[in-house]
Amino acid sequence: MNDIKGLTIKENASLKNLNTYKIDSKAKYLIHVNTVNALIELLKYLKKENIKHFILGAGSNIIIDDYFDGAIIKLDGLNKIKVDGLFVTCESGAMMGSVTCLSVNHNLTGLEWAINIPGTIGGSIVGNAGAYNSEIFDNLIKIKVIDENLEVKEIPKEDIAHTYRHTSLKGTNKIVLEATFKLKKGNKEESLSLIKNRQERRRATQPLDLPSAGSVFRNPLNDHAGRLIEASGLKGKKIGGAMVSTKHANFIVNTGNATSNDIKNLIKLIESQIKEKFGIDLVLEQEIIDWK
Ligand SMILES: Cc1cc2nc3c(=O)[nH]c(=O)nc-3n(C[C@H](O)[C@H](O)[C@H](O)COP(=O)(O)OP(=O)(O)OC[C@H]3O[C@@H](n4cnc5c(N)ncnc54)[C@H](O)[C@@H]3O)c2cc1C
Repeated sequence: MNDIKGLTIKENASLKNLNTYKIDSKAKYLIHVNTVNALIELLKYLKKENIKHFILGAGSNIIIDDYFDGAIIKLDGLNKIKVDGLFVTCESGAMMGSVTCLSVNHNLTGLEWAINIPGTIGGSIVGNAGAYNSEIFDNLIKIKVIDENLEVKEIPKEDIAHTYRHTSLKGTNKIVLEATFKLKKGNKEESLSLIKNRQERRRATQPLDLPSAGSVFRNPLNDHAGRLIEASGLKGKKIGGAMVSTKHANFIVNTGNATSNDIKNLIKLIESQIKEKFGIDLVLEQEIIDWK
């Protein structure tokens, strides 16, 4: 694969700075992709050589294993964002915050909620990211993907089933390449004021000073996972380097050297205590990645 143009390949690479939990994981290959053609050539090569792969966004919603005996693919070179009237089209490696900023600078409104989501467009579409009663599918028109046959296809939003933090793209081999949103004409000053308000609210309520991957569990109907975890006395509970945040109980934070197993064991403990005390089965919002 070294002769495929548009790739940067590292062997035995650290993933510690490529996941927001800062789990000290490694991969046999870490491949940064700069063009769609390079990605297609790479996927063909990996298939031929029987090398498994994993598409890594910003690693802000996943709990990764300690080692991946395959190729981690980063689409961070595919990050262009284009504004055309009310339409914003961006490549999947673009960060949510960058897309929001550019839209607001063009006096477009609708994506302000996404300013603090530290994920890529690709990861956010696959998981239907959202906040403050908005979600990424609200303004989405269509996406472009590489499908299972390595063909580039457009999919209209209507053909993608999506519910709270879930879509039918999850678990398929489709790779999101691009997304187009239709926003509304807005007012830059009003958008900036809303963004400031959201940022202050997050700083006041979330443990942003320690590595985490955001909310661990989805909120059960008419309740909050954080409230249940706090009520069960688990705030501050530690397993190894992983701790239930003392600021927001639906966050697990890495206090130093948390391993993947520390985080997973803490999740199991929370699940069993909530089931025992309240009879509720919490559902994970984060994704446990099993590379074994
Ligand atoms: C401090 C903090 C606050 C957060 N707040 C929120 C919030 O308010 N709302 C919210 O919804 N989330 C929140 N999150 C979680 C996270 O940022 C989002 O879920 C984000 O959308 C994940 O995107 P990512 O690029 O990091 O995806 P990753 O975590 O890298 O990947 C998630 C999944 O998507 C797949 N994937 C990634 N890119 C592609 C692609 N191009 N094509 C196909 N599959 C792909 C991966 O293989 C993986 O299965 C927060 C996280 C943190 C750390």
